[in-house]
Amino acid sequence: PITSTPMITARAVNMYYGAFQALHGVNVDMYDRKVTAFIGPSGCGKSTFLRCLNRMNDLIEYARVEGKIEIDGTDIYAKEVDAVALRKSVGMVFQKPNPFPMSIYENVAYGPRLHGAKKSEMDDIVEKCLRQAFLWDEVKDKLKQSGGALSGGQQQRLCIARTLAVDPEIILMDEPCSALDPIATAKIEELIAELKEQYTIVIVTHNMQQA
Ligand code: ADP
Repeated sequence: PITSTPMITARAVNMYYGAFQALHGVNVDMYDRKVTAFIGPSGCGKSTFLRCLNRMNDLIEYARVEGKIEIDGTDIYAKEVDAVALRKSVGMVFQKPNPFPMSIYENVAYGPRLHGAKKSEMDDIVEKCLRQAFLWDEVKDKLKQSGGALSGGQQQRLCIARTLAVDPEIILMDEPCSALDPIATAKIEELIAELKEQYTIVIVTHNMQQA
């Protein structure tokens, strides 16, 4: 049994796309240094719920969230909460790897630079995050090459490195392996097990074994 305080709590969460209600009274707790997996039929609202956790649904004009979601005791839908800052601490990895159209190095350096990291620190940040994402050994000799030229699995690990680079507390993953082959999938799963030692991870999957 889990006795610690949850990192994320959702209470009575309803979510609407216009008149269509996609989530009905969701109550769930998610814990630090654990992987919480959501599994269920297509269209049941898994991605919708995930996007509520970093207010990605704010970007959809006709979307509306009711109920309460707290992260570390803060109501993330409170007026004073800055959604951009929230998305820095609640990172997201998507189904289709989406590296920025720039070099491997720049993909990782982009976020830290935006948030004011010094140029002198950048090499260390990039190496640390690429190591953390189990990608360093495969790319250390071609950091200037385009991120888009990597294999799908490598691109997904690059996207994870990019997420780690802004120092998040929580990592949301929306079917991160469904576009990958079994070997690339196994690598990401191994990586998730490792990341769980430091982060709160919430993952959507349609794979029972993975969940
Ligand atoms: P899942 O991730 O479980 O497959 P989704 O969260 O993607 O489910 O979708 C839940 C429901 O919300 C579906 O009926 C889907 O059609 C609807 N939906 C998802 N995104 C949007 C959107 N941007 N606008 C309108 N309806 C949407």
